Amino acid sequence: MANFTTHSIIGASAAVAVSYHYMATEAFLPALSLGLLTYIGSIFPDVDSKNAIFTRILFRFIGVSLGLFFSFLSYNLLTPTQTFILFFGVFGFVLFILKPLFNQHTKHRGAWHSFPMALLSSFLIGGTIKWAVLHLGLFHEMVAFPLTIPLSAAFAFFTGYLVHLLLDELYSIMKIKLSLGTALTLFDPKQASLYAGLYIAALIAFFWLWEPSYTENILMLTSWGKWIWVHYEQWII
Ligand SMILES: [Zn+2]
Repeated sequence: MANFTTHSIIGASAAVAVSYHYMATEAFLPALSLGLLTYIGSIFPDVDSKNAIFTRILFRFIGVSLGLFFSFLSYNLLTPTQTFILFFGVFGFVLFILKPLFNQHTKHRGAWHSFPMALLSSFLIGGTIKWAVLHLGLFHEMVAFPLTIPLSAAFAFFTGYLVHLLLDELYSIMKIKLSLGTALTLFDPKQASLYAGLYIAALIAFFWLWEPSYTENILMLTSWGKWIWVHYEQWII
């Protein structure tokens, strides 16, 4: 597999290409953000290697983000000291409980180095951005047509992700290693249900990103989906 530096250089090149493509629209900030998202996508799949620089940074980032999010939610309820305790409690939970659990259940070049996972993560990122645009009013001030941003975000992240998988695969071919074919896995018959689940999840995430009412229909097909829909309707769309 390619190392972090190689992924970084090739990923940055892909980021420039994507950014350049969007700069033609003269929307500078979105072009910059989409380039950054491409770069993140290009180093993301190695989240499955326990001590990768990216994994360490990512979990700290998630810890700080969630810590700040919960501190914000309880802003009116807690004293400043209690807020500090809550923040570090959440941060510690992510770093010392969630991260080891994640490491335990992932293996390097497993499902994270696969085509359906690239699709699923990209659609989820696009869908989350769309949700933020619709519910929180984020990015409205950035562009005149905010709803094109979620699709572009999914495309940018997917481009980076795919560049990573192809690069790993290319390295395997060049070194004729045994790991050949484990970087861009389309389907693994030994883990058929996992891969089928990933493709189904990716399809649902795609509908969520593309048109929330499709997700509504899919969720309504199942009883647990109906329950989620009734309870969280205003949050899911
Ligand atoms: Zn990799």
